[in-house]
Amino acid sequence: MVAVRAKHVVLNNAGNISFRKYRPPPNFNRGVCRTCGKPVVEVAGVWPFKVMFIPVSTFESEARLPPVRMDIFYHRRVLDLPGSLPRYSGYFASESAVGKMIMSGL
Ligand SMILES: [Zn+2]
Repeated sequence: MVAVRAKHVVLNNAGNISFRKYRPPPNFNRGVCRTCGKPVVEVAGVWPFKVMFIPVSTFESEARLPPVRMDIFYHRRVLDLPGSLPRYSGYFASESAVGKMIMSGL
């Protein structure tokens, strides 16, 4: 996932995205494509800390994306990852890591 401040994102074809709130407390809004049902964007937080999470697979070139900064939900990994990035296992640890990143302005 790529996290971006919402004010830096323009949603093209927003009419083709179906939004649904799936977890009220942190105010997450998940947008899926109306055509294929794939996740397109997740919106979290409230202004001025509103952030959008965009799946890496939606970008044309992964090479142009910023470097990975952390691994969250590591307990659900499919394979062990090399490297020394901060890792967060478990729901609470992962969510609070993301929360801190949002509050610090990304
Ligand atoms: Zn689609």
